[in-house]
Formats: sequence, structure tokens, C-alpha cells
Amino acid sequence: MALPRFAYFENRIVPYSEAHIGVATHAFNYGTAAFGGMRAYWNAAEEQLYLFRPLDHFTRLLDSAKILAADLSYTPEDLTEITLELLRTEGFREDAYIRPIIYKADEGIGVKLHGLRDAITIFSVPFGKYLSNDTGAHVTISSWRRIDDNMIPARAKINGAYVNSALIKTDAQRAGFDEALVLTQEGHISEGSAMNVFVVRNGQIITPPVTDNILEGISRRSVMALAPAELGLPVIERSIDRTEIYLCDEIFMTGTAAQITAVTRVDYRPIGSGEMGPITARLREIFNQVVRGQMPKYKDWLRPVYV
Ligand code: PMP
Repeated sequence: MALPRFAYFENRIVPYSEAHIGVATHAFNYGTAAFGGMRAYWNAAEEQLYLFRPLDHFTRLLDSAKILAADLSYTPEDLTEITLELLRTEGFREDAYIRPIIYKADEGIGVKLHGLRDAITIFSVPFGKYLSNDTGAHVTISSWRRIDDNMIPARAKINGAYVNSALIKTDAQRAGFDEALVLTQEGHISEGSAMNVFVVRNGQIITPPVTDNILEGISRRSVMALAPAELGLPVIERSIDRTEIYLCDEIFMTGTAAQITAVTRVDYRPIGSGEMGPITARLREIFNQVVRGQMPKYKDWLRPVYV
């Protein structure tokens, strides 16, 4: 990955080489931080970079901060303005990924959440595809379980919790799969290592509910709005059994990095025809137009970077 040229750090935009934390920093020692991940999409015809749903992303980040007992005086709008300024400073004319992190910034020993200084940093990098195979991914069911709300809440995007995702992802890839789906303690499908999951079965689109230890994805929320409005198909939120995965007609995963990725095989079992299904294909097309500002109806999800 190319390094960022700039970062927002200690309340201002600085060269990336000046954005350093000490090794005794609480968040580095204990994982006591929460992060976000959003994308900005380049529209070459308009020569415009569009930041996708920043207010939703920053609202979720501040919700995660609340769960970490972090106290920051920023609003989602403040953080959006800072991000737009950072992107303009980088001057990107291509797709980019933005990573904000709220972290326990004190240096010293002692695991807790309260009575510590909270800080925020943001950096951005050019970014293309996350999963190289996004049209026919082969996934496995992970032998790891998803962290539970009463252990480390999956609803909050807590840095330390991503060891769970990393274990899931590495074991899946080393076993030759593109990704993995992970089960809750009760044995229901929760999500992927860094993406939500949807299945299509008998003409219905189904996704696990927010109470099945998922991150409440902004891409998930977007698909839940686009599917009824553009395809006339409402999305049903309910728990999904493991074997329903084998029997469904289509599976796709959604996430800022993964966007809409078609899953065509699970543990060597073909899903539906074994090729990307029509609902997944259509949603991918619509999503790609929406994020690049090509569907005026959804322009309020976007913030132009260049004015
Ligand atoms: N689940 C997990 C565990 C994730 O890390 C992500 C990526 N942020 C998602 C789902 C998808 O969320 P979003 O669509 O907001 O990127």
C-alpha cells in the first residue's frame, strides 16, 4: 500500500511522517480504539471525487466511541469537513479509502476506559479492489466464532476486536478460500471478516439482524434501501441457519472495502447456478452508479470533495 502523504493528527493536517504515537500509547497496548472505513469515488466525467455517506460513517464512529466511553467534542459534520479538507490536501483523482481512528491517547500502563485522553486521527490512501475475486468468491464457514455483544460488541468497530476478523481471514485464505462466513455462539450466520452478508432464497433477500453480532454496515444499509426502491424487493432481517447458505440461490457480501461481492461457492458447494446471480449483478451495477454520483436520486448520500 502506498503511504498517505498527510494525516489529520492532534487537531490539524500534518505531513504523514509527523503523525506518530508513542509505543506506550493505551490504544496500541490494549486495542482501546474505534475506527471507521469509508470510500471516496472518482467520477472522471465530472472530474469530481465523491465521499460516500460520511455522516452515517461518522455517526457510527461516534457511537463506537460512546461504547468505549470516549469523549470527543466533534460532530459528524465536523469530521466530514475535516475529511473533505484532507482529501483536497491529498488531491486524489482516483478512488480512495479513508480511515478515521478514535483512540485512547494517554501513554502508560493500566487497562480501563475511563479517565484517559481521547484523540482522533484520519488518513486516506488511493484504493482499488479489496477482494481480487469479487464476482465469484469461494468462501468457507470459519471454525472461529463471532465475538459476542457481551464480550466485545461487534456493533462498535473496536480495533482490538479485529483480531477476531484477522483470525477468520487468515485461516480462510491459508486454506485456499477468498473469505469466510462466521457463526454466532448460537450457530447462526453472522457476517464475513469485514463485510455483511445477504442471501437470496425463493425470491427473497435476507440478511442477519443487528442482534446477530454484526457490524451495522453502511453498505448493508444502502442495499436495504436500494433493493426495494430499485428492484421492488424488500430485505428481510432474520437469523440465517448454516445450511440455508447451501440451499440459497445467491449470496453476496457488502462492505466499504468489499463493496458488493458475489459469493458463488461455499465450502466447494456451488451456490445456485454456481455463477453470480441476477439480483447480485443488478445491485452491483446500481451501487456502482450511486457511489459515483450517476443516480441523482441518491446524491444526498454523497459529498463532493472539489468545489
Ligand atoms: N462487518 C465488519 C466486521 C466490517 O469490518 C465491515 C467493514 N466496515 C462491515 C461489516 C461492512 O460495513 P460497511 O458497509 O459500513 O463498510
